[in-house]
Amino acid sequence: MNNNVIKIAITGGKGGTGKSTVSTSLAMELSRKNRVILVDADVECPDDRIILSTTQEKVEDVESLLPFFNQDKCSKCGACSEVCRENALIFVKDKFPFISGQCNGCGACLLVCPFDAIQEGKQIIGAIYQGKYQRNNDLNLLLVWGEIEVGCENTSLLVKATRDYALDLVSGEFNSSEESISDSGEVISDSGEVISDSGEVISNSSRESISNSNINQNSNVPYGEDKLPNNGYEYVIIDTAAGTHCNVINALMGVDLALAVTEPTPLGKHDLELILSLLEIMETPVQIVVNKSDMGDLNLIKIVSQDFNIPLIQEIPYEKDILKKHARNQPVTHENIKKLADSILNLSIKTSSADGVLPQ
Ligand code: SF4
Ligand code: SF4
Repeated sequence: MNNNVIKIAITGGKGGTGKSTVSTSLAMELSRKNRVILVDADVECPDDRIILSTTQEKVEDVESLLPFFNQDKCSKCGACSEVCRENALIFVKDKFPFISGQCNGCGACLLVCPFDAIQEGKQIIGAIYQGKYQRNNDLNLLLVWGEIEVGCENTSLLVKATRDYALDLVSGEFNSSEESISDSGEVISDSGEVISDSGEVISNSSRESISNSNINQNSNVPYGEDKLPNNGYEYVIIDTAAGTHCNVINALMGVDLALAVTEPTPLGKHDLELILSLLEIMETPVQIVVNKSDMGDLNLIKIVSQDFNIPLIQEIPYEKDILKKHARNQPVTHENIKKLADSILNLSIKTSSADGVLPQ
């Protein structure tokens, strides 16, 4: 991928600090003059599409491995249950093992089974969607998000798949030439045939007739722009979930810059320290943005900024107009968000003229 595409994560240790507010408003500001993909990587609660009121198109289901037991081969030794770190496999002496918990698809049980009694099945863990911002046609903004299946806890895999899909769009590597999944779950071949689970062709709809319900990947790339570097995209903004767990780490992998969004409260300070410590380990350049900056004690955050030697680059106040838009699920516009976008645009100039690595 061309390194001139800037990948920026909007993250923060604490939920409710305004990551989605900052992500959507920053993506909108940047997309006034640049092509931007916003990735909502909070797959358990993707709300950017509600704030932006985008269109919604299903790209694909995301699957993970699900072990399938062959009782004819199983010796009831229990080795599979012992190796399962998720405690998803129940084994009772002299009985066949069975899955009762959340399997994360790691495949360890397949590897340890001495009798080759476990085969690789599949489970759908969620889906990737995309949508275009349509309130203002002058903005070049595409939203990509993942949505986890209800009851499924395997969020890391879906976050990675969602992020990779967005990055593949940028690099032009996403290949939709074989099969895709319609909203109703049918497999549709490249020739427009609808195929049943058993592999039978059950209808022969034309490509045109399925285009409304099924995603055409090339629709993301206006005619001629697939010849441009990075398909014309200049920024990928990744809105992570709150916290410092695996799913957040997956969203943060390989970004050029992280903006740690926090609020000036003792809890905000504590969680900011956690996310800054994680980003330090990941060697990811980071800057701090304070939301609701006039609501608590800003000194709490200034102290963390000094202790970690990380700049506090923008403060967003707690204003009635922001609150109103937030309550109505509308994107926020504010002069400080514009200033934040300007500072990002200045960083991109340094990146394209240097070695592709943003300064810390
Ligand atoms: S490891 Fe294989 S043989 Fe042993 S209980 Fe599990 S499935 Fe059966
Ligand atoms: S695939 Fe991994 S998580 Fe799932 S049952 Fe096997 S060992 Fe457990």
